Amino acid sequence: MSTSENKIPYKIYLTEEEMPKQWYNVRADMKNKPAPLLNPGTLQPMGYDDLRPVFCDELIEQELDNTTAYIDIPKEISDFYKMYRPSPLVRAYCLEEKLGTPAKIYYKFEDNNTSGSHKLNSAIAQAYYAKKQGLKGVTTETGAGQWGTALSMACSYLGLDCKVYMVKCSYEQKPFRREVMRTYGANVTPSPSQTTAVGRKILQEHPGTTGSLGCAISEAVEAATSAEGYRYVLGSVLNQVLLHQSIIGLETKAALDKYGVKPDIIIGCAGGGSNLGGLISPFMGQQLRGEATYKFIAVEPASCPSFTRGKFAYDFCDTGMVCPLAKMYTLGSGFIPSANHAGGLRYHGMSPVLSQLYHEGLMEARSVEQTSVFEAAEQFARVEGILPAPESSHAIRVAIDEAMRCKETGEEKTIVFGLTGTGYFDMYAYEKFHDGQMSDYIPTDADLQVGFDGIPPQPQE
Ligand SMILES: *Cc1c(COP(=O)(O)O)cnc(C)c1O
Repeated sequence: MSTSENKIPYKIYLTEEEMPKQWYNVRADMKNKPAPLLNPGTLQPMGYDDLRPVFCDELIEQELDNTTAYIDIPKEISDFYKMYRPSPLVRAYCLEEKLGTPAKIYYKFEDNNTSGSHKLNSAIAQAYYAKKQGLKGVTTETGAGQWGTALSMACSYLGLDCKVYMVKCSYEQKPFRREVMRTYGANVTPSPSQTTAVGRKILQEHPGTTGSLGCAISEAVEAATSAEGYRYVLGSVLNQVLLHQSIIGLETKAALDKYGVKPDIIIGCAGGGSNLGGLISPFMGQQLRGEATYKFIAVEPASCPSFTRGKFAYDFCDTGMVCPLAKMYTLGSGFIPSANHAGGLRYHGMSPVLSQLYHEGLMEARSVEQTSVFEAAEQFARVEGILPAPESSHAIRVAIDEAMRCKETGEEKTIVFGLTGTGYFDMYAYEKFHDGQMSDYIPTDADLQVGFDGIPPQPQE
């Protein structure tokens, strides 16, 4: 180890003064912008007025803004951030030693808050703009429960009502998540439910269904648009969410810059793409401006392979087909991952920003099987001490794979990955893994075709 390297601490923090004061909007530096959302009826791009019944006004402006590179973080939000940010950037010295790799591994650890993930970064922003608009409350869906928890925390802080539609199988499997949300005053309904027309329709067509994110989204949108003073908020996929999550990448870059470290490989797990998009944004911006190059890797489950096996097409964001169409890598809005899939990241689609970047070859994607993900999780927990969320462990898997490749070639690459949260509420999945009851299910081409058949006819170019 060289002397300069000895100076890099285990954890790099930023001072309050060094904290980012603006979010970074990577769309401003993209030559080809992500495709606009389309009205599913007319197939016309949705403008500000079309989106107003569903989303908060200021968030629509952020959603549609493809040109402003830096957007000020309002003081109320940055004050809230100060309660749990900056999150540490950790040099994984112990993991490096255990692996015997010459690679230098860093992880950005987003678990410094009760929601247990990065999702609070966008939840507080979305709740703030809803409050500023004078709304009564917001509705949303949650799968594993981190987003619902984050939104409940943000809403209780600001005095907003919060209605959460929670995918039924999670509602039943994760009663403690549900109770955390109720502690923060949220109203939690298992989805599909009898409380919405779309929920009743889905229940009639698929009796006994344990639900999906796409289905919970449909219910949450209906609940928002049919009640006075409510809007719908979403925890991933949308451009505005990537914007808020850029705080992760900006802090990471500021911390690395402090020590003159330039990463070679940046890795993140990808469900809807928000943590990965947030982590890579400032680095991708440099690459788009021709200032630097990086290898970016999105990691997804082999059982829900939106990037690696999906189609780049306009598709519904939800099962009930009430939401706008987004152009993205998708498995079809009717796709539901196999019931034995325990590792999260179950969404059928992907952020339009990341989809566009991937389509242009500006980033890579890899799919990994869940038993290998839990092997990486356990290996990581045993040396770094942190019990990672299954979602985050997808990134750990590929970070370890890349570090082992460096061991073979002798290259001293610098690897940064996003450790998005902890796995305390995922112990059923860990239990299955420890009991040898976890299997790897990879959908066949015929399985995927069923989802693709539900992709609507594409608008004429
Ligand atoms: C929600 C979540 C993810 C995946 O969502 P993205 O929008 O793809 O970031 C990953 N890790 C954790 C811990 C999560 O809660």
